[in-house]
Amino acid sequence: MDAERVIEDDRRHVLHSWSAQAKISPVPIEWARGSTIADYDGNEWLDFASQLVNANLGHQHPDMVAAIKEQAERLCYIAPSFANDVRGKLARMIAERAPEGLDTVFFTNAGAEANENAIRMARLHTGRHKVLSAYRSYHGATSTAITATGDPRRWASEQSATGIVHFFGPYAYRSGVDEETECARALAHLEEVITLEGAHTVAAILMETVVGTNGVLIPPPGYLQGVRELCDRHGIVLIADEVMVGFGRLGEWFAVDLFGVTPDLITFAKGVNSGYVPLGGVILSDAIAAGFAEQPYPGGLTYSGHPLGCAAGIASIEIFEREGILERVRDLGERVVRPELERMAAAHPCIGEVRGRGLFFALELVRDRDTREQLVPFNAAGPDAAPMTELLGACKKRGVWPFTHFNRLHVAPPLVITEQELRTGLAAIDEALAVTDGYVRT
Ligand code: PLP
Repeated sequence: MDAERVIEDDRRHVLHSWSAQAKISPVPIEWARGSTIADYDGNEWLDFASQLVNANLGHQHPDMVAAIKEQAERLCYIAPSFANDVRGKLARMIAERAPEGLDTVFFTNAGAEANENAIRMARLHTGRHKVLSAYRSYHGATSTAITATGDPRRWASEQSATGIVHFFGPYAYRSGVDEETECARALAHLEEVITLEGAHTVAAILMETVVGTNGVLIPPPGYLQGVRELCDRHGIVLIADEVMVGFGRLGEWFAVDLFGVTPDLITFAKGVNSGYVPLGGVILSDAIAAGFAEQPYPGGLTYSGHPLGCAAGIASIEIFEREGILERVRDLGERVVRPELERMAAAHPCIGEVRGRGLFFALELVRDRDTREQLVPFNAAGPDAAPMTELLGACKKRGVWPFTHFNRLHVAPPLVITEQELRTGLAAIDEALAVTDGYVRT
């Protein structure tokens, strides 16, 4: 098919997510391989966003493609009510890598459904209804998950679910205090929210272990332990949303491994098989799983534990181990990305803060380093967002496609990216930042 036909079909028949259809012109992609995507005109870009921070193993990894082909020839689909070799094996492999005491997996198609089901499990387990979730979070686009979301994508849909209360997680840069102070502030605030809501009414605290789309916010030391302690004290289920950060993004199987905290439920999707086939799920603590030993679990999906998705998940974990992915993420993050971004911060007045870990970093961009005024206002669109739109354009012109959101640029390339590609992409961003430097107040 030629590009014109691809565009024509798309424009006439595809409704794109989160967009005013008349105001977008999606780039037609002809091929993607490794860390590169390309259009029909021969333009290539380094995929510094791993698409939606899901293509952890990059594009068209031959061992992933082979595993899917092999499974397709053997068994494409069998209903969730049957026992199936790849479904069971992947569940075991995930449980073996999850924190101690989380041994059971409920498979979904993606992240939103994982959070929907985790919330359902927490409510059934506690007999309570309320769920506390953070402002500046994203948990998915289905009814309860979008209501739990703490960013503007919630606004149009939040009336569809009840019992969600938002709180402020830690964000030291915006609070303008050191991490220790911010940790204490955020914990005291959460405790007060629990008290005012009535601890006995709160089923769960749902939080991204490290906030992804809303800023690559790594919790300060002690914060997650403090949340765990509050949950224990009040019989609240702790749900860690690891849809974006699970499976290697931070150089660990699960981000909670960095903090030594064991949640009661972990939700995952994206990186579990890099999106080669849609797959997500919830990992349950033994205590919560035990609740469904005699009582039926009142939830299900036609494609729960789809064999093609599970075969891709098994192949992915095997590739991670064979290729030493977790080790290389840690190495590239600390040896290449962090020093390069810090060097950029010293050179570009538009960079307010560099933060991140592994292959997941954010540059928070400002108009004024002293006041920390954001480069563009919260939720800016159209002309208000021009500095960010121009920055993204300048990056693309230089052959790199990063993720941008509000006043931030995120660096989240595939975990298989070569060091050379990584350095090339970072150099392109470095050059492109001249555009946003132009908006700094002098
Ligand atoms: N949770 C987090 C932290 C996410 O980043 C996302 C997607 O970006 C989701 C949940 C929703 O996942 P999905 O789009 O697969 O439903």
